[in-house]
Amino acid sequence: MSNTVKKGDTVLVITGKDKGKTGKVLDVFPKDNKVLVDGVNIVTKHKKARKQNEKSEIVKKTAPINISNVMVVCGTCGKATRVAHKEINGKKVRVCKKCSASLDKEFVKATKKEAKKNIASAKAEEPAKAKKETSAKKTTAKAEKAVETKTTKEASTSTTKKSTKKPSAKTEA
Ligand SMILES: [Zn+2]
Repeated sequence: MSNTVKKGDTVLVITGKDKGKTGKVLDVFPKDNKVLVDGVNIVTKHKKARKQNEKSEIVKKTAPINISNVMVVCGTCGKATRVAHKEINGKKVRVCKKCSASLDKEFVKATKKEAKKNIASAKAEEPAKAKKETSAKKTTAKAEKAVETKTTKEASTSTTKKSTKKPSAKTEA
């Protein structure tokens, strides 16, 4: 976990009040598992004057957030991704799980070809796959459900009709 996010990365905030925001990592605090992200988690501090010639003021400040609240945004495919590791030229390099391009700038070139292929194939597969799967699932599920409910309803109504005879004749006398 310690070296998944680095200074200079662009990250997407996935939880908390700044969910959905992206920003550049200004600093990483591995000990606290925290990162400082530009424009994210801005807190206002009320600074009170303690000496006579000091002014009371409100200071806006970016505060660090938990590292697990952010995801690295891949510069190649533009998606927020989990980080994989790979060895390139004997060096441990961070890699995008979605397109397998490197997340470390100096290695992006080395992985760009593979990434392009992955992005292209993902785009070609995605719409066709999604359509097929969802439509097939929906129709079969619906049909099954309909059959089930029909049969159980019929069974239950026929039994109740037989067993309950209404004692309505009593009040006539
Ligand atoms: Zn990527």
